[in-house]
Amino acid sequence: MPNAPHVTACPDCDLLQRLPSVPPGGTARCPRCDCVLARGTRHAVERAIALALASLIFLVCANLFPFLRLEVSGRFVDTTIPSSVATLWQQDLPGLAAIVCATTIAAPLVQLLMLLYVVVPLEFGRRAHGAPAVFRLMGRLRPWSMTEVFMLGVLVSLVKLADMADIVPGIALVAFSLMILTLTATFATLDEHGIWERLAEARE
Ligand SMILES: [Zn+2]
Repeated sequence: MPNAPHVTACPDCDLLQRLPSVPPGGTARCPRCDCVLARGTRHAVERAIALALASLIFLVCANLFPFLRLEVSGRFVDTTIPSSVATLWQQDLPGLAAIVCATTIAAPLVQLLMLLYVVVPLEFGRRAHGAPAVFRLMGRLRPWSMTEVFMLGVLVSLVKLADMADIVPGIALVAFSLMILTLTATFATLDEHGIWERLAEARE
């Protein structure tokens, strides 16, 4: 049963194994190749909620406020992430508009909402309806969130545009940078094994 919560495949050697409960500060290693399979963390659920909420707030700010202001000869234009997507769409680049929207707005937003749907009820000892399936799907969506790549593209464009126009960074640029940090921290510190254990113990 590879999908059962406690059965995991070693990412290095594919050995299927049933993980024991890992105490805070402890690690579970693969008996065949010694790869670290799980780390026990304190307050796994509370930490996930705090980081996911912070990421969500920064993501909303990054989409509501101006991202950049371009000034040329006294005239200026403010851009936001949603308006950039709309502009790409209007310029007959629907594929690019969809990719930018999916990787910078939709994927992080859906992932964060899925994580909160799973972990917020766990804080109260409850399991949301379909939470194991949602938690598993969230892991599969992770490669689609490419906010760091988007940021790299923005920085390259800034350097190239700097000679042509005055560029004023907006609040959304700061919010987006902070969102990348908190989003990375959310999933880098996520104690998946601990959350699977809490899911198994919780009442629906
Ligand atoms: Zn292994």
